Amino acid sequence: MTDDRHPPAFHALSVPDALAAVDASASGLTSEEAARRRAIHGPNRLPAPPQRSAVLRFLAQFNNVLIYVLIASAVVTIALGHVVDTGVILAVILVNAVIGYVQEGRAERAMDAIRGMLAPHSAVMRDGQRHGIDASELVPGDIVLVEAGDRVPADLRLIEARGLKAQEALLTGESVPSDKSTAAVDADATLGDRTSMLFSGTLVAAGVARGVVTATGATSEIGRISGMLSEVETLTTPLVRQMDVFARWLTVFILLIAASLLVYNYFVQHLAFADLFMVVVGLSVAAIPEGLPAVLTITLAVGVQAMARRNAIVRRLPAIETLGSVSVICSDKTGTLTRNEMMVAALASAERVYSVDGDGYAPEGDIRWRDADADPAEHAVLVEFACAAGLCNDAVLHSGHDGWHVEGDPMEGALMALAGKITGEGPDPYGSWRRTDAIPFDAVHRYMAVLNHDHDGRAFIHVKGAPEAIVAMCANERTADGGIRPVNPDHWHDVLERLAADGQRVIAVAVRDVEPHQSVLTTQDIDGQLTLIGFIGLIDPPRPEAIAAVAECHAAGIRVKMITGDHAATARAIAVQIGLTHTDRVLTGADLEAMDDAELAAVSLDTDIFARTSPAHKLRLVTALQSHGLTVAMTGDGVNDAPALKRADAGIAMGQKGSEAAKEAAELVLADDNFASIAAAVREGRTVYDNIKKVISWTLPTNGGEATTIVIALLAGMALPITAVQILWINLITGVTLGLALAFEPSEANTMRRPPRPRGEPLLTGRLIWHVALVSALFVVAVFGIYTYAIDRNYPVALAQTMAMNTLVVLEIFQLFFIRNIYGTSLTLAAVRGTPVVWLCVSIATLAQFAVTYLPPLQAALGTQAVPFGDGLLIVGIGVVFFALVETEKQMRLAVLHAEERPARR
Ligand code: ADP
Ligand code: MG
Repeated sequence: MTDDRHPPAFHALSVPDALAAVDASASGLTSEEAARRRAIHGPNRLPAPPQRSAVLRFLAQFNNVLIYVLIASAVVTIALGHVVDTGVILAVILVNAVIGYVQEGRAERAMDAIRGMLAPHSAVMRDGQRHGIDASELVPGDIVLVEAGDRVPADLRLIEARGLKAQEALLTGESVPSDKSTAAVDADATLGDRTSMLFSGTLVAAGVARGVVTATGATSEIGRISGMLSEVETLTTPLVRQMDVFARWLTVFILLIAASLLVYNYFVQHLAFADLFMVVVGLSVAAIPEGLPAVLTITLAVGVQAMARRNAIVRRLPAIETLGSVSVICSDKTGTLTRNEMMVAALASAERVYSVDGDGYAPEGDIRWRDADADPAEHAVLVEFACAAGLCNDAVLHSGHDGWHVEGDPMEGALMALAGKITGEGPDPYGSWRRTDAIPFDAVHRYMAVLNHDHDGRAFIHVKGAPEAIVAMCANERTADGGIRPVNPDHWHDVLERLAADGQRVIAVAVRDVEPHQSVLTTQDIDGQLTLIGFIGLIDPPRPEAIAAVAECHAAGIRVKMITGDHAATARAIAVQIGLTHTDRVLTGADLEAMDDAELAAVSLDTDIFARTSPAHKLRLVTALQSHGLTVAMTGDGVNDAPALKRADAGIAMGQKGSEAAKEAAELVLADDNFASIAAAVREGRTVYDNIKKVISWTLPTNGGEATTIVIALLAGMALPITAVQILWINLITGVTLGLALAFEPSEANTMRRPPRPRGEPLLTGRLIWHVALVSALFVVAVFGIYTYAIDRNYPVALAQTMAMNTLVVLEIFQLFFIRNIYGTSLTLAAVRGTPVVWLCVSIATLAQFAVTYLPPLQAALGTQAVPFGDGLLIVGIGVVFFALVETEKQMRLAVLHAEERPARR
């Protein structure tokens, strides 16, 4: 190890000694002290992996079979004395490398920016209060709070731990989570045995804990293992990789053909080697889609950026493709379809129902009973509600200039506000009580319990959770006068249905007093021994944008299903408000348990709402839907959701309330937790796929047309209608410029009005191959046509070739406008108007063409001659005719397609 300062062995110190060793207290640092330490220790970040140098990245641009061929031809041409051709070839290679380098740099920067958006956050005690900060701001001595699903942000000495387990495979290779506690261990314990520590980069598998930061950044255990984390992701997807491989084999194929033609014509036809060689080089350049991989990479980068702008952050690039083919979205309810801005609206005790007023999370507002203010002095049960709501709670309310905010779970924030409303004692009325133990909430058991001691030394257990879970644990219920009587589950069942039916989230609260000396809480302490205080109804309105997004998904042939831990009636009411379902059908977790996989697969299609589910059900549901050949997107936030997210075709984690574990299992992270962002990501995914397809459908016929032209000329023994250097120019300069425009194409108008692309649909569909063949043929006809016309008029060969070259570029431009709308007509005003990017690319290409046609130095290099004005018009006219032909052909096809599709619509 390189560190010779020998930090203390924190794992062997007692908690007070460990705190003293980093000069910290259990209540955390002050902000000033944290700033001071930050200046000394620097940010809590691992050193960035070494980057490839700019020179190497530039040189990598030349690492490509075609470039080798071109360099070889430059050598041969100079040997043959064709100095001008050599110059042109070298110039084109260089310009092409610069374009590639710049584009690649842009794509990489786009990816880096997105990685930065996923910076982890951490809960820390500063100035005696809990705050959420960027994990890079942590310093030694900070008190950090972690819970199941968190990535440990720095090396921590535990000072408090409940049911804590950590997954440390990253450091120790041990994949079974190990138990952690605050007890000191032997000084010479190995990393895996230091159970009093949590190490940066490992995952909290279960429980909650509080720890003091002992090391940050490069000094943490993970930081010392240098280089381990330099995982680099290249900008590619299965589709693009497939195209890459395709392009490489195509290159080999074409080079073989070119070589055979060279040998045949030289030895059999006895053509001059020098001329022949240039023709063969021209053929290779013409046929190989050299610009394709670069343009596809840019298309992906543009897509990633577009998604990020819509709050969908892509963690794994293949997800871009998958998202475009999603056919069912399984979404959480709370916070995704609803706003997760909770407010308590009603309290139901055994005998009375109260309504609650207020505004947001402000801890002030009235409690009413029968339209009159209810005074807690006369309604003893209200104080019990306040006590349970305020104590069984980890949220903190902050008051800012723009109102009150929650740090923590919004539902708990609403409960804290309720406690403030009832007691009239501000945002934390029970702050002075001492909590000695807690059972944290988990999505499987659906309750949370705490053990607290008041000023008089009395001890209480408070529990809150899903009504079914809590009522089952209660023996008694509280009456209005503060007495108790046996609990009446039927009554509570009715209350629950009534509150849930208008979409309220219902939480039950219960209490038990215990011996003052008790300081440990177990599940036995609460089971069957609680007194039910009552139910709390919370409203969480649907997000208005989710309503629109669900409708958009339905129009796009995507089913939307709600998977929630909430109660069936609540889920149904919200689903109806959002327009997510048209049936009343709800399946609960218990229903799912009773079904085998085949039964579940059968009902999963027609059910839109799944309530009271636990994370394991999500996994089964994904599998069931996939068995129908559907491409499933699934959202999740908790640590237990990770398997379902991994299993789904597109796992989507919540950026705000999601755990690190869920984010790391997911392909996509939603920065705003909003369902509308999923719909936007699907739209962008479809757009990227379309654009990839457009780039390919534009590039391949261009290459096909050029290559066929040369082969025909060669076989017919005629002069080439376009010279090799001209083809080189068109492909590497004009072609890349024009093709790039397609990477930036916006979504077509009907992107979200057509059904999802079938799973596994091949990229090179019959239709695409037909398109390539048709357009190639039209290119050949046009080029030979204009060339023959020029020769007929006794124009010099050089002029005829110049006209043929310009015809080819004009056709490429018209082909570009045609391709921009593969799913609709190109004959709308919007389609003709284009986008700024399209016009920029077209203008650059046009200017470049004018330059090589009319500027003498370039004329000398490329062997061109000025084209007379009338012939220039003729060339544009050919473009118009070409456009009319392909567009008519498309309209014919669309007409048939619509007739086929109509009966299939729902
Ligand atoms: P959702 O799908 O709505 O996010 P959850 O799995 O988070 O559902 O919660 C399921 C149920 O567990 C809720 O309806 C509620 O009754 C209960 N619950 C949720 N959060 C808490 C909490 N912090 N403490 C106690 N109970 C909770
Ligand atoms: Mg939840």
